[in-house]
Amino acid sequence: MQKITIAIDGFSSTGKSTVAKQLAKHLGYVYVDTGAMYRAVTLYAMQNGLIHSEDFNKEALIYQLPEINISFKFNRDLGFAEVYLNGVNVEKQIRSLEVSSFVSKVAAISEVRQKLVEQQQKMGADRGVVMDGRDIGTVVFPDAELKLFMTASAETRAKRRFDELIGRGDKVKFDDVLKNVKERDYIDSNREDSPLVKAEDAIEIDNSNMTLDEQFEKILRLVKMTIEDCE
Ligand code: C5P
Repeated sequence: MQKITIAIDGFSSTGKSTVAKQLAKHLGYVYVDTGAMYRAVTLYAMQNGLIHSEDFNKEALIYQLPEINISFKFNRDLGFAEVYLNGVNVEKQIRSLEVSSFVSKVAAISEVRQKLVEQQQKMGADRGVVMDGRDIGTVVFPDAELKLFMTASAETRAKRRFDELIGRGDKVKFDDVLKNVKERDYIDSNREDSPLVKAEDAIEIDNSNMTLDEQFEKILRLVKMTIEDCE
């Protein structure tokens, strides 16, 4: 069967990674979580004193970019690849609300984007990839055979994120999570370099009122139709 590239973009916490993982597993494709890469660069900046509260030393981060190595390693038990920062598994650390509160500022830096986009294009060069993020269908793989754009109300998304953070033991307030989701949407949609926009040829999926199974079935039908069209 012909392998295609599946680009999934959309706002924060729209369930992109959940459906991307389901698809990759079902199709035997590689899944790449590009948000994890921006989060890992942010963690590096935090760990190296380049970012705290309102203070952000962008120039130092740009200077140190060659020192930052991001990789993925497949975890059989989890069924997906975890992200490593300079050889250390940071999958859990990058999901904190603190990293979330800085990541959009880091992701707005062109030099950071250039480095990560190049790596993402290499990872997906052979097709058979499901990649999720904010600019996959517009910048990373503008020729992707299937592009999805996921949306849901901010409250629905914040509730999902809040449940996820509480579920892993983080002490967070719902209002802070909601504020972060809205702030990231704003910065991601309004930055100069590669803003979050729906690609013209992307299919919009509003999953506010869909179960995970309904969403998966709907998207799998789209994948099958796209593969048939390519053959
Ligand atoms: O997908 P996730 O919410 O983990 O992404 C974290 C942040 O990384 C986003 O809010 C955005 O600022 C940035 N990002 C990006 N481009 C991507 C993926 C993520 O700018 N392709």
